[in-house]
Amino acid sequence: MKYISILGSTGSIGTQTLDIVEANEDLCVRALAAGRNIRLLEEQIRKFSPVLAAVWDEKDAADLRVRVADLPVKIMSGMDGLCAVVTEEKTQIVVTAIVGMIGIRPTIEAIRAGKDIALANKETLVTAGHLIMPLARAHGVNILPVDSEHSAIFQSLQGSERSSVRRLLLTASGGPFRTFTKDALKNIQVEDALKHPNWVMGRKITIDSATMVNKGLEVMEAKWLFDVELEQIQVVVHPQSIIHSAVEYADGAVIAQLGTPDMRLPIQYALFYPKRRPLRGRLLNLFEVGTMTFEAPRPDVFEGLSLAYTAAGIGGSMPTVFNAANERAVAKFLNREIGFLDIVKIIGEAMDAHKVIREPNLEQILMTEQQTYDFIESRW
Ligand code: NDP
Repeated sequence: MKYISILGSTGSIGTQTLDIVEANEDLCVRALAAGRNIRLLEEQIRKFSPVLAAVWDEKDAADLRVRVADLPVKIMSGMDGLCAVVTEEKTQIVVTAIVGMIGIRPTIEAIRAGKDIALANKETLVTAGHLIMPLARAHGVNILPVDSEHSAIFQSLQGSERSSVRRLLLTASGGPFRTFTKDALKNIQVEDALKHPNWVMGRKITIDSATMVNKGLEVMEAKWLFDVELEQIQVVVHPQSIIHSAVEYADGAVIAQLGTPDMRLPIQYALFYPKRRPLRGRLLNLFEVGTMTFEAPRPDVFEGLSLAYTAAGIGGSMPTVFNAANERAVAKFLNREIGFLDIVKIIGEAMDAHKVIREPNLEQILMTEQQTYDFIESRW
């Protein structure tokens, strides 16, 4: 039996993780955490019988306690709740499927408690990779990537010497506006940006894919996960999303992982690593795919990607500014307060205004996040 806990169980990654639990009798859910969706969390509690569940708001927790009063489950709230979920005693692996920098502190607590991490919450490595990776090494904890590109790289690294890696080839679908001119991007509406050509994901990450900021965040995530220089990461636009990413080795060999776009594969691989299990779903049919194409990204149009390389190159607290500014700008765009191109404009302004802190600790990272939010609120 393998015991798992999930941060963000009601979201896109969280619910797909529970699909995998349902299909594998030797996976057992110990603890679940969600934000506001207590109706779905209640259903999950009834189905998977965790010993502990947490929601963010104490009022929601009180409501949930009444709803599940017939069950032997403890309900908690706030950061204490998140930290209790990830450190639950029997839990062996924690799936961090929460969205945003709120995932950093619980991830640190989970590592300190010796739990392996199936990491979907990319914000954790983007902003605190310099704290997380050494901590994981010190505690002998595995950080197993769930993001499909990073899982593909991780899979392509198996059985090869790390020192023989020349480059990581990080593929990107290019999103729904891949071929648009910058002028045409001006009039993009929320509904257009929420239509991803290949993947069904949460709202925030879908917008991030449309701006290609997501790819920028993934570059930063890859740098920490695989301990490579920024220059060793090449973004390759591959609109069919069949090759999920690849590794180029010293001898010129390129090893890639291919498959249909289905997040359950990387989630399942992280949960059972290094074993592979059968997975129900559509298999890749190369005859149907027919053609795979590749393009260089257009950083002049998708400036979010260039800004990400700049932020990663500067390092320190700058990736936190990049991430926090994007988070706030995306929320404003989804709220129809700003236009599509303003997202990247806001990120650029926030980065320009920031005085970098080298090697920030957790408090400084969270302070930088708050300062970035305040800066944006004062101007937009
Ligand atoms: P969703 O928006 O679908 O889900 C987010 C989850 O986090 C929900 O369960 C939400 O709860 C929960 N949550 C939000 N705020 C809080 C809070 N304060 N306390 C507790 N729980 C909270 O996001 P995704 O599943 O799409 O993404 C999750 C992470 O995985 C992100 O970092 C994303 O970048 C990454 N990722 C996602 C991929 C995808 O295919 N979706 C692919 C690769 C990475 P509730 O809904 O109840 O409010």
